[in-house]
Amino acid sequence: MKVLLPTSTAGSLPKPSWLAESETLWSPWKLQEQTLVDGKKDALCLALHQQQLAGIDIVSDGEQTRQHFVTTFIEHLNGVDFENRKIVKIRDRYDASVPTVIGPVSRQKSVFVEDAKFLRQQTDQPIKWALPGPMTMIDTLYDDHYKSRKELAWQFAIILNQEAKELEAAGVDIIQFDEPAFNVFFDEVNEWGIACLERAIEGLKCETAVHICYGYGIKANTDWKKTLGNEWRQYEAVFPKLKASNIDIISLECHNSHVPMELLALIRGKKVMVGAIDVASNVIETPQEVANTLREALKYVDADKLYPCTNCGMAPLSREVALGKLNALSAGAAIIRQELIA
Ligand SMILES: [Zn+2]
Repeated sequence: MKVLLPTSTAGSLPKPSWLAESETLWSPWKLQEQTLVDGKKDALCLALHQQQLAGIDIVSDGEQTRQHFVTTFIEHLNGVDFENRKIVKIRDRYDASVPTVIGPVSRQKSVFVEDAKFLRQQTDQPIKWALPGPMTMIDTLYDDHYKSRKELAWQFAIILNQEAKELEAAGVDIIQFDEPAFNVFFDEVNEWGIACLERAIEGLKCETAVHICYGYGIKANTDWKKTLGNEWRQYEAVFPKLKASNIDIISLECHNSHVPMELLALIRGKKVMVGAIDVASNVIETPQEVANTLREALKYVDADKLYPCTNCGMAPLSREVALGKLNALSAGAAIIRQELIA
């Protein structure tokens, strides 16, 4: 990346109201058949355009073609029964009705490659593509086949690796795995979670990232955050092993969180996507607030390794708020760029 402090988002942006109901997760599509296929492409172009207008350096599809960051990927796999649903607790936090694994899991065909090729055609800018991480995938399912979280995660890692290699061939510059579950199941992360992540990136030549956050700004997550106390030290448990891993970039929630910034010293040497935009609030940050967060992060992250980003996806926000936050991110990064050059 030639630009200093290249900006990006964690992934999702709000969908247009003609495509899906606004400000809702798992929102059903409003179009059908071919009009839905066309509508998703149009929404992807709009999401790209919004990022470009805001001056975002590393762009994404805004996750416009998927209903949910985990479920949509799983829908394309063999071995998962979507009719046979069970209630499970996601990330030990909230109940959700999830599909059941009933046999060996495998990928029928690529899930996102056509979308990635389409995005690649629209821009010469670096593009980042998000996939769910293996541990977060198993946490969004009921397993009635492998009956082993580790084994199911490993099988998903193999599938994700197949998908990632096709995304790389389609011209994706950074492949990101979303692993909010890394912030909850610390022992498993260290025992096999990071090994699964490394299996998912095996043989890739493009850059790879892992996104670990405290979740979307939905009530179950904000309620959970209230129980975490004044200092959120969850990252501390997984940083040493992540630092030793092959993953290139670590994407984190920082702004307005209670994560002590000095924890970033534990991953010194890695590139860090520093979350400088709070996605759990409709208040649009000022450029100065974004700059303050980045300035604080610069004490522990070398300038050439700092990537200003959002704390998480912005899918549940209004488009107006999301656009305001994109602009604030760019403007805040510009302030720090100026300071570094001076
Ligand atoms: Zn997130």
